[in-house]
Order: sequence, then C-alpha cells, then structure tokens
Amino acid sequence: MGTLSRLARRLADLVGAHRAALQPAVCGPGIAKLGATPLDGLPSVGLARLRGTHLKYFAPSTVEEAVGLLAQPNTKVFAGATDVIPQIRAGRPEPDALVDLKKIDRLIAVQCTDAKWIIGAATPTARLTANAEFSAEFPGLAEAAGLIGSDQVQSRSSLGGNLCNASPAADSVPAMIVNGARVVIATANGGTRSVAVQDVPTGPGRTSLAPGEFVVEIEVDRAPARTADAYLRMIPRTEMDIAVVGVGVRVTLDESGKVTDALVALGAVAPTVVRVPAAEAALIGSTLDDAALAVAAAAASAACNPIDDKRGTIAYRTHVAGVLTRRAAVIAGQRAAEKNGASR
Ligand SMILES: Cc1cc2nc3c(=O)[nH]c(=O)nc-3n(C[C@H](O)[C@H](O)[C@H](O)COP(=O)(O)OP(=O)(O)OC[C@H]3O[C@@H](n4cnc5c(N)ncnc54)[C@H](O)[C@@H]3O)c2cc1C
Repeated sequence: MGTLSRLARRLADLVGAHRAALQPAVCGPGIAKLGATPLDGLPSVGLARLRGTHLKYFAPSTVEEAVGLLAQPNTKVFAGATDVIPQIRAGRPEPDALVDLKKIDRLIAVQCTDAKWIIGAATPTARLTANAEFSAEFPGLAEAAGLIGSDQVQSRSSLGGNLCNASPAADSVPAMIVNGARVVIATANGGTRSVAVQDVPTGPGRTSLAPGEFVVEIEVDRAPARTADAYLRMIPRTEMDIAVVGVGVRVTLDESGKVTDALVALGAVAPTVVRVPAAEAALIGSTLDDAALAVAAAAASAACNPIDDKRGTIAYRTHVAGVLTRRAAVIAGQRAAEKNGASR
C-alpha cells in the first residue's frame, strides 16, 4: 500500500472523510462515543473522539461556525490534512480538536471575476490544476500546485494548507508570491483582514496568523497583458520529494519583447521565501538576453541563505538557485511572448 493510501486510510480512521460517519450514532468499533468536553455546546457539527487519542473532529459548514470553534483553546484547522496527519503520527503535540474546513462551500470554491481569481483556501489543488482557464493564465502557479506529492495527495492538498504549514520548501508559495497573491483571513472577532501571501509564513512551521484566525481565500489579480509565470524546482529524487530549491518567476513584456516587470521568488533556500529585487532589476529592461540572465542568476545565488543537509549542501542549493532562476525566466518570457498581446 502506497504512502498516500496509508495516509488516506489513516485519515479516514482518524477524522473521517464524511461527516455522517462521525456522528456518535453511527460510530464504528474504533470510534468511541463522546464524553463531555469543553467544546460541547458548540454548533452541532461532526464530532468524534478518536481512537487512542482525545483528539476531536468538527466539520462546520460556515466561516462563522469555524470562528466560533476556534475560540476554544488548542483547536486547529485543517484542509487536506496531508501535513497534519503525518505530523501527528510523527509525534507532534496534538491539538484537542481539529476543525475541517473542507465542508465550508466558500473554502472549496474557485471563482474568476474581471479583476481577480478567488480560490477557496481548502480547495483541493487537483481541482485548481484541472481548471484550464486558470492554468492558462497562471501556468507557473498551476505547475507548482501540480508538483505537490502525487495525484492522491493533490486530491486533498490545498494552497491554504501549503502556505500555513509554513515549510520553506512549500512549492506553491514562491509561485503565489510572484503573482502578487493575497490571503483573506477570518479573524477571531468575526471580521476579515487581507495580507500578502509573503507576509504569512514567518519561519519554518510559523505564521503571522493570530490564534483563532484562518485563511478563507487566496486572491490573485488577473494577469496583465503579455505576462506569464513559471515555477521550477530541484528534487533529489524523480518523484514525491521536497524541493531543495524552488524558483518562481513572472515577467511582463512590452510589444517589442522587452521586459517591463519581473518578479523572482526562491523557496527552500532560507527560512521563508526570498524575493530577489536584484534579479528582478536585472531582468527589467532586458530582452532576457544572456547577459541579463547571468546577472539575474548570480543575484539569485547571492540571495540564498540555505541549510546544509543530506538532501543538498549550501553550495549545491546556492548554485541551483541561479540555474533555475535563469531557466524559469526564459520559460516565463517564452510564455509571455506567446500571449502575443492578448490580454490573457
Ligand atoms: C506524500 C506527500 C508528499 C508531499 N509532497 C509535497 C510536495 O512535493 N510539495 C509540497 O509543497 N508539499 C508536499 N507535501 C506536503 C503537503 O501535501 C502540502 O503542504 C499540502 O499543500 C498541504 O495542504 P493540506 O490541505 O493537506 O494541509 P493540512 O495538512 O490540512 O494543513 C497544513 C497546516 O496548515 C494549517 N492550515 C490548513 N488550512 C489552513 C487555513 N485555511 N488557514 C489557516 N491554517 C490552515 C493546518 O492547521 C496545518 O498546520 C506532501 C505531503 C505528503 C503526505
């Protein structure tokens, strides 16, 4: 049985894929009936005491219900649980309760307006990459989301989870950052606030979200004319591995093919994603010629502050960051040129 199959079975065992399966009346042999807890009396949602733990499961159907549940101490949200469950299994301190965001319609919706895309934070990444219009407009972000784990992982994994797990190697984060993505956060007082994606992770496993807050949506403005992105990563294995370097680049061209705007973001080379203004400056005004690409690559390498571990040395990560920056810039430039003046 593959890793994800085991994960999915474990997930179904622990928190259940369906709310009905978690009602005390239909508890199977492995799921005990609930006792009184500090969380009792909250909205009637799926709830179970889990086998061998005191972990409980809630499945609110509205943002407001979720905010109410998160007012209780030591309560944690999840979407796909593709990080949460392995971490619990690995012995990370358990919360008292998990709040499933996937039953809230707004969190699993993908909408496109004239101005922006609005992606529910718990939307399975497979649903996003299957969206042809989105993938055509943001091929780099779609390819980053499409690199997360396997098909099975992507049937559950979300952009909100990838971001808020706050791994420096999270694939979608550099790609979201070069596209200027923002998150809408539900706050503990029942309101919302909006922040740039790059301001969410503050270090490995840490975010700027306050207790009781969670991400509702990710917003990405519609791509301007002759603008395209690309995401490339290096992994030691051919599949199912974590980036030792990930690079997102987005460029905008004028009608003559000259770069008028550029964004470069590096993953897995520092505690949080690194924007590289010197690489962006080298690309802007160029036609993505060799000289400009060489300066951008050197700037990307210079911006790295990576760890040295069995998966990649500091020297290796630093070198690869430059190589991938050059390649991603070329791909983004080709894609932008192919748009041939079409707005999207
Ligand atoms: C086999 C396997 C392979 C993987 N490969 C990759 C890979 O190649 N690249 C990669 O980047 N990742 C990879 N991952 C990690 C994981 O799949 C991704 O990080 C995924 O995007 C997490 O999404 P999720 O919805 O499952 O997050 P969850 O596990 O549900 O949550 C992750 C964290 O984010 C928090 N969270 C979730 N949603 C929200 C929200 N809306 N607001 C606030 N906090 C929230 C949770 O509390 C938790 O701390 C892999 C995982 C597995 C098991």
